[in-house]
Amino acid sequence: MKVDGKKKYLIALAVIIILSVGIYFYIDNNKEINEISYRTFNEFVEKGEVKEVYLNESPKISGKLHDGTEFITDNPRIENFKEKLLLANVDVIETVRGGIVGQILPMVFMLSGIFVIAYLIKNGTKQAEKEMANMANVEAETSLSKRITFKDIAGNEEAKESLKELVDFIKEPEKYAKYGARMPRGVLLYGPPGTGKTLLAKALATEAEVPFYAVSGSDFIQVYAGLGASRIRKLFKKAKEAGKSVIFIDEIDALGKARKGTNSNSGSEEGDRTLNALLTEMSGFKENEGIIVLAATNRIDTLDEALLRPGRFDRQIEIGLPDVNARLAILKLHGKDKPLAEDIDLREVARETVYFSGAMLENLLNEAAMIAARNKDSKITVDHINKAYLKVLVGEEKKDRSSISKEDKEITAYHEAGHALVAKRVDKNNKVAKVSIIPSTKGMGGFSLNIPPDRMYQTKKDIENNIKIALGGRAAEEIIFGAEYITTGASSDLKKATEMAISMLGSYGMDKDLGLVSYDVIVNNNLTTDSKLVERVKELLNAFYEEVKKILLQNKEYLHALAHKLILEESINEEEINRILYME
Ligand code: ATP
Repeated sequence: MKVDGKKKYLIALAVIIILSVGIYFYIDNNKEINEISYRTFNEFVEKGEVKEVYLNESPKISGKLHDGTEFITDNPRIENFKEKLLLANVDVIETVRGGIVGQILPMVFMLSGIFVIAYLIKNGTKQAEKEMANMANVEAETSLSKRITFKDIAGNEEAKESLKELVDFIKEPEKYAKYGARMPRGVLLYGPPGTGKTLLAKALATEAEVPFYAVSGSDFIQVYAGLGASRIRKLFKKAKEAGKSVIFIDEIDALGKARKGTNSNSGSEEGDRTLNALLTEMSGFKENEGIIVLAATNRIDTLDEALLRPGRFDRQIEIGLPDVNARLAILKLHGKDKPLAEDIDLREVARETVYFSGAMLENLLNEAAMIAARNKDSKITVDHINKAYLKVLVGEEKKDRSSISKEDKEITAYHEAGHALVAKRVDKNNKVAKVSIIPSTKGMGGFSLNIPPDRMYQTKKDIENNIKIALGGRAAEEIIFGAEYITTGASSDLKKATEMAISMLGSYGMDKDLGLVSYDVIVNNNLTTDSKLVERVKELLNAFYEEVKKILLQNKEYLHALAHKLILEESINEEEINRILYME
């Protein structure tokens, strides 16, 4: 119940008590009443001084003398008391002392008070229940008209493909059940804000023709104790009642932050409870029921590991910032219904909006339209877009504010091309699914997504190749820009390369000189290691670095070709890479 409700009934309670007590005392105190002994009373009766007596069942009776004095005395409760009084010419009134008003009214007030309180409490509880219901009453979007479809989402092709697979799963779970295939229960969409995660989840529900239930993790912050968990249960109950459905939990990091453990007495206990309820519910529904839970986060790194385990959000799809082509597609989509002047080249706008998310691009066109409308111009012009551009960037994070500089773009392009080229040259079975100069969520700069051949064990050769691939970025920078102009961009590559080299030599016994000693065991037992391992790692990395440089120099024209393509397109996929390297 909210504080408001509580306050309301406390005030009502106070008013009623004051009123009843006031009335009671007013009536009671306004009269001067003398308590007399029964004997004195009898004397007054005998002397004929008593005018009237009020008879009642209580231990005291009251009455009035002829001179107006009121009195009370003990009720003798004797037989024929009334007759005795009547014979003595006393009026006997069989009622209660203080009259009806004095006695009944306070009681009426009290009773009505109790009713009011009961009503308010009930109402308050109802209110809380209503709130709970409202919160659980996540708008199920069911009408299929006006719903988002995959067509309303530009770019994000890989994510769309991944989700399209699930459409069939939801539509015909029986078909998959026959083959013993298990539908993924949870899909986690992660990536920067405004990249279309919510849109994708909505589109999945639309295409599968099922209701869409959405909640946001941030709604669970500061809710009443137990409400979060109960809300989760209600949400799932509703989804189950609806049969097949898509449940979407936005900002899951708000409720799925790594749990603090049971001995924590922080406010996050409530969060833990909510998270536990979610996990229980997710394990609770039957496979192939046609319910799928989608969640979105910008911060996959902070998520509780339990959420990522099999049977929970075991499918994870990265939704990155759009590259130039995706940006163009988004601009076209949102510019479709806007009166854009002929001189607007959306490709040019796309090129100038590196690091913009889909939401920012939509915002850009919207702001431009607003400026045009304000100026009463018939069309949206380049000038409006330029003004809107500055507006959209204000308030964005610094990272987003600085559109990538030409130099940075070039360095990143060669760096990433270096990784990709080395990957392809050291083992042609290596897949490079995507190279991009738009940062992934995991780091700055770009990324090169290498997928090594799928094998259970890694051979010494595999590890060596991976170290070389990691060194490819720095080597490309040195070859193209010179040893003086190498950048800090390679730090995480060097970390990875060093880790791999240490494991190779120290854990896997893959070095003749160092032998089969496991340095893990030595370190775990606090035994001193000589610096031989470090020396060997250094030697190895240097040797590999020289080798990598040689590979890149021999393939310099391909390095240029890849980098140029990257500068132009911002990201390239396996097919294009192979085409450039004539490997098709
Ligand atoms: P957040 O992480 O902040 O919740 P999100 O990734 O869920 O963001 P959405 O809410 O799906 O982002 O997108 C916000 C708006 O941005 C959408 O309503 C849409 O107008 C626009 N948008 C974002 N990405 C795209 C896209 N790929 N295609 C078309 N529009 C997009």
